[in-house]
Amino acid sequence: MHRVLADERIASFEGALGRTVIKRAAEEVFGRARASGDASYDAVIAGLVRRLEDVHRASLLPVINGTGIILHTNLGRAPMAAAALDAIVALGRGYTNLEYDLGTGSRGSRYARVADALNDVTGAEDSLVVNNCAAAILLVLDTFAKGREVIVARNSAVEIGGGFRIPDVLARSGATLVEVGTTNRVYIEDFERALSPRTALLLRTHPSNYRIEGFTHDVQPRALAELGRRAGVPVLEDLGSGALVALEEFGAAHERTVQEAVADGVGLVAFSGDKLLGGPQAGMVVGAAPLIARMRNNPLLRALRVGKVTIAALGATLQCYRDGSLRERLPVYRMLGATLDELRARANAYLEAVPRAKIVETTAFAGGGSIAQAAIASLAVAVAVANPDRFAARLREHAPPIVGRIDDGRVVLDLRTIASDEDGTVIRALSASE
Ligand SMILES: *Cc1c(COP(=O)(O)O)cnc(C)c1O
Repeated sequence: MHRVLADERIASFEGALGRTVIKRAAEEVFGRARASGDASYDAVIAGLVRRLEDVHRASLLPVINGTGIILHTNLGRAPMAAAALDAIVALGRGYTNLEYDLGTGSRGSRYARVADALNDVTGAEDSLVVNNCAAAILLVLDTFAKGREVIVARNSAVEIGGGFRIPDVLARSGATLVEVGTTNRVYIEDFERALSPRTALLLRTHPSNYRIEGFTHDVQPRALAELGRRAGVPVLEDLGSGALVALEEFGAAHERTVQEAVADGVGLVAFSGDKLLGGPQAGMVVGAAPLIARMRNNPLLRALRVGKVTIAALGATLQCYRDGSLRERLPVYRMLGATLDELRARANAYLEAVPRAKIVETTAFAGGGSIAQAAIASLAVAVAVANPDRFAARLREHAPPIVGRIDDGRVVLDLRTIASDEDGTVIRALSASE
């Protein structure tokens, strides 16, 4: 055991995995080698290296995203801004005035600071932050709709992904779903007819990951907000990705912004922190002050609350919106805004270093549910190899792992989602794997 642990090939794992994990893996590998009768030193070391590599890959690791999907839920959604990371370090390191009012020396509000920034950026009267957008929806339903009715258009009764289905979530929160309209056509009169003294909420969700085309009609959110006001019933719009800027400036199709929803008079607007906002995982509800106040008094909020790390990162991310120049500050907008000329210049470095590489035109996607279809012209490096599956697997085994796509027998790495300071690493990996 001593000799194995001291072996350079094994000792190099110690920093990442620690001695205890290595010892446990070594005992397993020794046991198997003894049982199989092949206990030569080099075979044991090779077996142990493979085992430790597996253990290492199973831990949470940074990866290089060559998929071209900017907000990739499986790859952890939005990369965060440098300012957000600095805030996490500065505020995570020690104590903070998270719930402490330095003026009075007594207990303060955890939510106040980030609410000020959110109100400022979105134009809403008030706002609240919880763990994610799903939690935000849950809190709205629990606050307003328990034991009562929620009117939802049939084109809004969606599954967002990860098993989060609007009808099921409604049932779970003790609300009764009242479906109106048809799959393709919904009118404001459908909502109006379904109103009753039991109506607690009118709900509209973003058609997050599907599209209905052809003979369609939808209710404008402004009309829904007006109906809600006349009937004295709150309206919740689940925006999902929560754009705070006009996406057409970045070459993508327009995506309804949080500011537009607020300006339309929607009382409760819910969206995620780690999609188009470009911040940490979080869920926001912004809107009318009296409604947000009721949510703030819901005891369930305690179970959904965010910690100082989230508040620090979210605050710093929102500050980027107040300071402008998103392209420089937020990785999501740097990627969305990269021009084809910029990508081409980077692609040339790949061509020079990797003889088998070709540059291909691709389509990148903003991703992140709500705008799964927002397509952006992009460029990728394509490597034709005899066995693309094996080549892609080898790239995933690289340190750091590189995740690409296989297209037409080639391994394709989209440059839009690879940061320019990762190019060197990817080029070296491609050259070594050839
Ligand atoms: C992504 C999404 C959600 C869920 O957001 P989380 O922050 O992951 O909980 C809810 N609604 C819509 C429309 C979405 O696109």
